[in-house]
Order: sequence, then C-alpha cells, then structure tokens
Amino acid sequence: MPSDASSLLARMADLRALQGAIAVLSWDQETYLPAKGITARGEQLSTLQGLFHEKLTAPDLGDALQRAEQSTPASDEETCALLRALRWDRDRAAVVPGRLVRELAATQSQALGAWREARQQGAFSRFAPFLERLLALRREMADALLPTLRDPGTERYDALLEGYEPGMRVTKLEPLLARITGWLVPLVARLTDAPAPRGPFDGRTLDPDGQWRLTIELLAAMGFDQEAGRQDRSIHPFSIGMDPGDVRITTKIVPELPFSAIFSTVHETGHGLYEQGLPAAHRRDPLGMAASMGLHESQSRLWENMVGRSRPFWRFWHPRLQAIFPELRATTVDDVLGAVNRVERSLVRVEADEVTYNLHIALRFGLELAMLRGELRIADLPGAWNDASERLLGVRPRSDAEGVLQDIHWAWGEIGYFPTYTIGNLYAGALFAAARRALPSLDDDLAAGRLLPLRDWLRENVHRHGRRSSAEEIVRRATGSGLQDDDFRSYLESKYAAR
Ligand code: ZN
Repeated sequence: MPSDASSLLARMADLRALQGAIAVLSWDQETYLPAKGITARGEQLSTLQGLFHEKLTAPDLGDALQRAEQSTPASDEETCALLRALRWDRDRAAVVPGRLVRELAATQSQALGAWREARQQGAFSRFAPFLERLLALRREMADALLPTLRDPGTERYDALLEGYEPGMRVTKLEPLLARITGWLVPLVARLTDAPAPRGPFDGRTLDPDGQWRLTIELLAAMGFDQEAGRQDRSIHPFSIGMDPGDVRITTKIVPELPFSAIFSTVHETGHGLYEQGLPAAHRRDPLGMAASMGLHESQSRLWENMVGRSRPFWRFWHPRLQAIFPELRATTVDDVLGAVNRVERSLVRVEADEVTYNLHIALRFGLELAMLRGELRIADLPGAWNDASERLLGVRPRSDAEGVLQDIHWAWGEIGYFPTYTIGNLYAGALFAAARRALPSLDDDLAAGRLLPLRDWLRENVHRHGRRSSAEEIVRRATGSGLQDDDFRSYLESKYAAR
C-alpha cells in the first residue's frame, strides 16, 4: 500500500472503533440498560455519533484521501477498493449540513412519540404533520446527496436508497417489483382459495426455558461461534456486529407462539453468521463491513425461510423439538410444515408469510416513490394505502392502525429502506439455488442436522468479501446473475406446487 494510503489506515481504525463503541452501547440499550439510564445513554450515543461525523468529515482527512487516490495505481485493487469505500462514506457524510442532521434527529424523536399515540388512537391525522416535516427534511437530504451518485438520470429516491443498497436504482427496482407483483397476485389467489386448516400447534403453549434451550442448540448447529458472540432476549429481535469476534443477536420468546423464538433465532443467526464471516484482515477498515442491507437480509431470510421452513430441516429438528417437549409426541413433521408455511392474505407486514411478504413491500415502495416525487399528498396517504392494500393483498384495513400506521420506519424518517427486504428475498432465492447446485447433498445434510456445509458455502461466496464490491456484484459472482426474480419465483412455485 502506498504511503499516502497507509497514513489513512490509522484514521480508519479510529472510525471503526467508534462505530464498534456505538454498536455495543446500542445493543445494551435494547437489552440490559436500566430504565433510568436512558437519558445518559442518549447523551453518550449522541456525543460518539458527533465525534464520528467530525472525524469522518475532517478537512485533513479529505486532503489525505485525495492524495492517496491520486497516487494509488489502478493495479492495486485492494487499496482502490478501500479508498472507494472511504470516499463513499465521507462524501455522503460531508454533503449533508449539520443543521439538517440535527433537525432530522429532533423531528424524529417527536415524530416517534406522535406515531405511537396516533397508532393507539388509530388516527393518522395526529401523525400527519410530523410525517409532512420528515418528508420535507428527507427531500432536502436527497437533494444534497444526489450529486454524490455520479450517474445520470437519478432521482431523489435513488439518493436515499443508495444509503441502504449502494448502486441500486429506481429504474431497475420499479419494473422488477411490477413484474413480481404480476406473478405473485395470482399465486396468492390460488393459495388462499380455501382457509388454512388448523393443526395441533394452534393455541399451544411451550415452556420458555425449553424454547430457549432449543434456540441455543439451533444457533450452535448453524455454526454461530459463541466465543465470538452471544444471544440475549429483547422485545424486538435484532442483530448487531461490533467485530467478527463480537456479534450479538437477540430472540423473543412467546410461550403461546411456539415457533416465534425458533424463527427469530434462525433469522438473526443468519445475520450473525454474515457478521462473524466478514474478513478479519479488514476488521479495522471499511472493507470489513457488510456490502448492503439487502445482502444482509438475504442471509437471514435464506436461513429462516428456505432452510428453516423446509421439510429436510424439520426431519432433523422435529425429533429434537419432541425431545425437549414430550407433550408434542403425537405431532408429525407435516404438522410443523403446515403450521410454519401457512399462506394468508394479511394486513400486517411483520406477520406476513414468505409468499405475500413482497406484496407488502411493493405497496410501500409505490407510496414512498409517489410521496418523494410530490405525486401524493400526505393527507391522501391513508386512502392510497388502503386502496393499494385491497389491490395487492385483497384486504382493506379497517383502521389506520392496521394500515398506514403499522410500521415504525416512516416515524424514524426512514424512506427508501423497505425495498431492501425484497432485494434480500430475491438474493436469498438466487444464493440458495446456487448453493444447491454446488452442494448436491444439501437436502441430505439438512435432514441429518448438518448445517455447516451451507454456512461454509455462504462464508466463501458472500461473507468473506465484505464491502470489496457491490452487493449485486458479489451475488453475480456467486450465482451467475445480478438482481432477478427467477430463482425466487421457482423456489415459491415448486414449494407451494402441491397445494
Ligand atoms: Zn433481518
């Protein structure tokens, strides 16, 4: 590495250390922080975030980066990738004025309170003025970010999407989501013809201690290194990585929902394996990070849905479940599969099954795009939501609480995030198909409880690349194609063909 670039390494290490400290404080806030510590924690996080922003946008860092870019030959691919990542981080942080960042943070915390109240009362009008303000601030932010995209024909939505899914554009996403909707709507119609039958898991309660033991067995079998991470409990399950050597995941145990903890753990372990598999050689620079939110989500959904809701997987895990819960002696693998693969027209995204899920995303994407383009007024949003819900999902919310107010994302001011869930599903479909081609004994392995060959394939083809190239490039190299819906469609159609 040229000397200009090596002088940057120490600064990048500082930035990563600050990010790690922010992550561990955030994890603690969601798990063990006592109620009276919340004010101090907010202050600590805000100070560290301010420090991070200051260091990242410092003028002398800009000078050093520019010198390194000029003196690094294109043949030095490693350093070029590193400088590209730092340039991306810095440009996006530098163009947004500090005043806008502070205003957004202040509006977010007010909006969050208003959203909670509005949701309780089922009254969108209580939240509307805050959403109006957040949208105005996000548009301002998008305008500031647009010049950093450097490709022609981009629009505001692209500038925000770039923050979650670098390189992805509306021109690609909009027709793709339209196509997915085109084949999903009839598939859902066929699968929801008759009401799903009830089975022996409906209304059953399972002891929380036993559930916890099973989740620990599961994450260990998936190859989650418990000396490089741990599982705890939280109200909303999540995962967060400070370093490949320290990755935290959480689960949520609900006694009366026997599969909730299992799928939370499998999902979050999928995220956690990605974090543990990031390149250790880059743990102190920006290449040692995940490539995108969509690729991250592909890892959790591949494990949760394609593996965790499959017959081979349950051939092994159903007897384990029965060993821990002898009262399930009379249940069968088919009972489990019936309970965990139920397809229903539903109003609420977070409870949606893997078939209808992307219709919930198509709904939100269309509305976000229209709002950001100025084609949809906030006052008209609830009606537009309900119409889209009826058109796409075949159900109409009875109140704003079950409709436009259900997600927290807009109250956070996050616009452009939702598509990463569908991108995750599509990448998961492509990666799972490629893993199947590469591992002919995959089903036998799953049925025997051997999950490591799949983990190792993902490690080799996804995790270890960190942020060296874009998510789509990583997927293209692993699967032979970029973002597409063919594999995901084949997966759903063959899985649900028999119904
Ligand atoms: Zn996830």
